[in-house]
Amino acid sequence: MRRTLIAGNWKMNGNLAANSSLLSELLAAPIDSENEVLVCVPSLYISQCASVLAKTSIGYGAQDVSAHQSGAYTGEVSSAMLADFSCQYVIVGHSERRAYHHESNDLVAQKALQALRSNICPIVCVGETLEQREAGKTNEVVITQLRAVMDVLDDGALARIVVAYEPVWAIGTGKTATPAMAQEVHAVLRLTLAERSVFASDKVRILYGGSMKPDNAKELLAMPDIDGGLIGGASLKSGDFLAIINAA
Ligand code: 13P
Repeated sequence: MRRTLIAGNWKMNGNLAANSSLLSELLAAPIDSENEVLVCVPSLYISQCASVLAKTSIGYGAQDVSAHQSGAYTGEVSSAMLADFSCQYVIVGHSERRAYHHESNDLVAQKALQALRSNICPIVCVGETLEQREAGKTNEVVITQLRAVMDVLDDGALARIVVAYEPVWAIGTGKTATPAMAQEVHAVLRLTLAERSVFASDKVRILYGGSMKPDNAKELLAMPDIDGGLIGGASLKSGDFLAIINAA
């Protein structure tokens, strides 16, 4: 059985004081230990999470990582640096990074590989734009994005990743994929993993992301191949994030 993972992606939001309030509100609430809960925060605040969330049931992760191990890469943060602060997860290939920083499938694959080398679980984001969906290319796009990562990992490493299906048109727009639409793509992703390794396809959690809110979370999370959520806007409000966690 795959353990449900509810991950918040704070994106470029927060500050020391606001993070502290949000985290204490989350920590004060009863959270069903059957589910795993995680916040992915700007890299600067990883150390704050390391002190506030150590020995709690809430994990933390970063939103990006360098594809390189170390060296002359001004502005980048390596997986070893994240591991230094006991970071357990890192988002790679978020559509905002693909769009605004021109990250290619190959670069995203290198980032996933680098994270795994530091024992950090990469949350590999895939998803189509509205134009691609309307052109009937959804499956082709997400399969290509996933295969690029699969190509650089052996079967053991593949079983350790998390995948997040985030249709670009649903991110921050209030438009959510229907549970049936999301399930269809999740099943395609699982099948793609199974073509390489049935073990990995059984283990890998596939999260849905894109305007997941308290009022649509339950239906989405009830689908057989949706193993959790990657939550943007709603993860910044403790009430909404907790409601999603409790819907799982
Ligand atoms: P929203 O939940 O704000 O649509 O963002 C989703 C997302 O991009 C999570 O990574």
